[in-house]
Amino acid sequence: MKFLVCVKQVVDTSKMEVDPVTGRLKRNNANSILNPLDRNALEAAFALREKVGGSVTVITMGPPQAGAVLKEAVSMGADEVYLATDRAFGGADTLATSYTLAKVIEKLGHFDLIFCGQESIDSNTAQIGPEIAATLGISDVSGATDISFEKEGFITVHRPLRENVEVLDLKLPAVITCTADLNKPRYPSLKGILKKNEVEIHNITSADVDVDPGRIGMKGSPTQVRQVRPIVPPKKENLRIEDKTAEEAADGLFEAMKKLNLM
Ligand SMILES: Cc1cc2nc3c(=O)[nH]c(=O)nc-3n(C[C@H](O)[C@H](O)[C@H](O)COP(=O)(O)OP(=O)(O)OC[C@H]3O[C@@H](n4cnc5c(N)ncnc54)[C@H](O)[C@@H]3O)c2cc1C
Repeated sequence: MKFLVCVKQVVDTSKMEVDPVTGRLKRNNANSILNPLDRNALEAAFALREKVGGSVTVITMGPPQAGAVLKEAVSMGADEVYLATDRAFGGADTLATSYTLAKVIEKLGHFDLIFCGQESIDSNTAQIGPEIAATLGISDVSGATDISFEKEGFITVHRPLRENVEVLDLKLPAVITCTADLNKPRYPSLKGILKKNEVEIHNITSADVDVDPGRIGMKGSPTQVRQVRPIVPPKKENLRIEDKTAEEAADGLFEAMKKLNLM
């Protein structure tokens, strides 16, 4: 079977900085990591490959330095990696990103299962997986916590709802977005670490894929992030009631709570 995993290089939100002038996220190599849920997506593909055989192809769309997350995928066990990189792809919103990724997937051939993380940690729209499926015209499910092959031509996926678990049979090919509850991602192997130093990252530009130039990059993006700014927490004032009798203190507290609309 042919498995494909989409991975994203994200800003490590624990080290996230916003440029005070442009209001944009500062992206550099020091604070860029593989999106955490994409490790679960990779693990899901590797585990199925071990069960039924086949190959795992990994793709990302991003600037040349995004190749680092592809190398990490190789160290975990990916067979082949592709980087969709082109100035024309820059400034893409989720619609343009998923369109480009879907076109890259079409170019690479037929895949039985496509895995994504449920959401990224730096933009977390959770739109990319379902939008890839919609563009390719195939089935999809978001937030998988269990995956198995139980029926010929289908994949069985468990997805928790508020108080129940939904068990779905998805006709193949399909897109599945993965949660942290799905599995425990493996560590890179020694063989993988050696392979990542030699692996060829296949670059794909807009000239290599059959894309409508009006649907990629900033031109193809109806949504644009104008600014990202930190949330300033509301200032908290402390109230201290001292040197009062118990009754006076209780009255003072009651009045203060009334002022705050807590009574
Ligand atoms: C703070 C911020 C907020 C944003 N908000 C919006 C918004 O509201 N609407 C909008 O249209 N755009 C938004 N964008 C732009 C957004 O970053 C891109 O569209 C991005 O490519 C995908 O969005 P996401 O990370 O939210 O994807 P999600 O749908 O949250 O990502 C889910 C999964 O999709 C896959 N994936 C996502 N991006 C890629 C990629 N480039 N290559 C390969 N696989 C990928 C990964 O498996 C990932 O785990 C925002 C950007 C920033 C920095």
